[in-house]
Amino acid sequence: MTRVSARIAAIAESATLAVDAKAKALQAAGQAVVNFGAGEPDFPTPEHIVEAAVAACRDPRNHRYTPAAGLPELREAIAAKTRRDSGYEVGAGQVLVTNGGKQAVYQTFAALLDPGDEVLLPAPYWTTYPVAVALAGGVAVPVFAGVDQGFRVTVDQLEAARTPRTKVVLVVSPSNPTGAVYSAGELTAIGQWADAHGLWVVTDEIYEHLVYGEAAFHSVPVLVPSVADRTVVVHGVAKTYAMTGWRVGWMVGPADVIKAAANLQSHSTSNVANVSQRAALAALTGDQTSVATMRAAFDRRRRLMVDLFAGVPGVELAEPEGAFYAFPSFAGALGRPIRGRVATDTLTLAELFLDEVQVAVVPGEAFGAPGYARLAYALGDDDLVEGVTRIAKLLAG
Ligand code: PMP
Repeated sequence: MTRVSARIAAIAESATLAVDAKAKALQAAGQAVVNFGAGEPDFPTPEHIVEAAVAACRDPRNHRYTPAAGLPELREAIAAKTRRDSGYEVGAGQVLVTNGGKQAVYQTFAALLDPGDEVLLPAPYWTTYPVAVALAGGVAVPVFAGVDQGFRVTVDQLEAARTPRTKVVLVVSPSNPTGAVYSAGELTAIGQWADAHGLWVVTDEIYEHLVYGEAAFHSVPVLVPSVADRTVVVHGVAKTYAMTGWRVGWMVGPADVIKAAANLQSHSTSNVANVSQRAALAALTGDQTSVATMRAAFDRRRRLMVDLFAGVPGVELAEPEGAFYAFPSFAGALGRPIRGRVATDTLTLAELFLDEVQVAVVPGEAFGAPGYARLAYALGDDDLVEGVTRIAKLLAG
């Protein structure tokens, strides 16, 4: 018998958190690291949200257990926000407040999958999805779309991967790690196809407010109402309000699935910290100006990244349309000597970047996309210029 169960032993550390930890350790040791690893806004949480949390700390009602499914006022506010922002008509009974979007992802698959059920997972994918699927006994089936197709899978590709065991198709637009945003037409086609085959749609909308230029956010159950009864929305305050550390997310879905997931949560984590829930309530119902301000900053940095990478040998970057990630292909930089070392994969190339020029990126292997790497551009402009310039110089030899 092994000391750690086979199920848990099969889980590797989150690659994104591992890169971030390594970069921070080097920084702490005095190295001038440019860290493109962390998937979080660099802004502090807006002041009015912090103030609401301070007040909540002083209110003894928040010192106690509260309902596992979330504070009733927050569930109401999330339902209202969903109607306001994406036009999806839902009630508070269809909302479960979770410990970040991550717990929402985990519980969604736990609630939907039986052993052997397959989930179609557009790749490059966020590294947590396949692990959450596997923990639920499911099987993740990657469906790959590279830079040549703007990182957006087609219905034909999904259909080719569909089997009698397919239960769920995952949608995330804007996407982590690629920044790709699907059009309304593309999402409608996927929703209608899922509906026609009786599939569930899990739509991760955590980057809803981070779309730029001509791109626009759309929610599948709004575009295809007939699939709403088999749709779960995953969301949270982390990215929109610079609240990654507060740990508040949610699931929105059919009442039976939400109830089942709430039962699971009542035996695992119970209610999310009340102070954080009060902060999330202030975020969703308060002044939304900071959302637009942060989005404008990310938009500017996104264009800066595209400009900086233009002309760097061996690198191809499609303009990201959402989130705060650039996902260049480094295929042209592999297989040739760089300072006496040859990287034949992006795992090694990322190591080389960190060792030689102290720039941290997350290798594409972590997202089911060897040959690429993810750079979060939630950094100050000077750091962006410095980081990409170091990479460019290194690759130019
Ligand atoms: N979904 C996606 C696509 C993400 O990128 C993240 C954060 N990296 C999450 C969900 C979860 O965010 P959190 O748990 O911090 O709310």
